[in-house]
Amino acid sequence: MIPKKYELEIKINPKKRKIKVEGNIFLANHKKMQRGYFDLHKSFKVRSFNLNDEETKIIKKEDLNTIAIRPAVKRYFFEIPDKRKIKININYSGQLLYFPEFGETNSELFLDDRIDEQRIELASYSVWYPQFCDFGELFSYDIVLYIPREYKMVTQGDQITEKIFNNKSITRWKCEEATDIAVIGCSDFNYKKEESDNISYEAYFTDLPEEFIKKDYEQTVKTYNYFEGKMGSPSKNKITFKRVFSPKKNGQGAFQRGGMTVFSQGYILDLLNKYPEINLLKGNAHELAHMWWNFSKGKHDWINESFAEFFCLLALKNIRGSNIDDNIKRYQEAVKKVGKDTHCLYEHPLSNSGDGMTIRYLKGSLMLYEIYDYVKEEKFFELCKGFYKFSKSMEITSHIFEQFWTSRVKDKKENIENWLHLKGSKPL
Ligand SMILES: [Zn+2]
Repeated sequence: MIPKKYELEIKINPKKRKIKVEGNIFLANHKKMQRGYFDLHKSFKVRSFNLNDEETKIIKKEDLNTIAIRPAVKRYFFEIPDKRKIKININYSGQLLYFPEFGETNSELFLDDRIDEQRIELASYSVWYPQFCDFGELFSYDIVLYIPREYKMVTQGDQITEKIFNNKSITRWKCEEATDIAVIGCSDFNYKKEESDNISYEAYFTDLPEEFIKKDYEQTVKTYNYFEGKMGSPSKNKITFKRVFSPKKNGQGAFQRGGMTVFSQGYILDLLNKYPEINLLKGNAHELAHMWWNFSKGKHDWINESFAEFFCLLALKNIRGSNIDDNIKRYQEAVKKVGKDTHCLYEHPLSNSGDGMTIRYLKGSLMLYEIYDYVKEEKFFELCKGFYKFSKSMEITSHIFEQFWTSRVKDKKENIENWLHLKGSKPL
């Protein structure tokens, strides 16, 4: 089942570390499945569950095998009537289980999501809202957040209203094309807003120097303009970049949800201590490129990552004047080190563990570089633009990638096939 829309009322009590959620979820059941499931944070208690306005029994619950950054998930199975459209009404509450932040210790399980007095961070990792399928499906959301008034909150969506009532801030947010409902908040967020002709920029941070934020803004404008110039605008509306520096010490360096990037502020502060002149162009350009490269799901996700990574190299070349050959050499060295039986690009599962990142990001970039180097920059972007447009009309898989690129760059057909189908570091 595929979620189409979430309408949730979310009450958060940072002092008690509690969350209470109630609302409707609209789903499509095109395959007319008889049995459905949803995943939810393991320690939450489901108080009521209705399907198409009828109270529905959960027929089975089971703890899911944990993966490092999704450490506490319970799966709930239920029966579904033979309907293509489904409305679920659910009411649940609880506290997030505690795990160290990503990279904080040597432990095997991590969770950056938190509800405490210092910060609120909720994203797909904790499975704080019901999830019905693998990550990557697009849905819309319309949520109302109830938070103590001193907290400043941000989500990927647009803020529609804000009220203060009983010392609570009640804000409503809408988002049309989301893959996650990520909600970040802090009681002492600083907020900075900038505007250029074609973008808005908002930064949320507590301890970063204003100078850093200023540079980040300028660089975001430059990188975005470069990509937009080559690929066209990814949206009909003016794009807002939300740069959220979540006040965690460790944690994942950054993750992207549409125009919102959530950084670990501690990670950035560490970098600034070591390299005061650092700017985030490399990581930023990769994340920014995902505004275009975000359409392939599951094991085909390497297409998103390879394009984002290669576009990042092009941004470094064109904005900072970096030598692309030096970067390519580094990528080749890294790819040469992967195990000889590591999955080929075409079949690589959606995972960055082991050699996953090297294959999905770097090996794919090497393939794109070979095409780029052969057809040269102008033609390369023309093809990229065509491929991107193509993604609007169908689901792009490894197979479609192969068909598209081998039929348009015929002289490199065999090389592209080798990059896609050979295991390990081959054809290097
Ligand atoms: Zn990426």
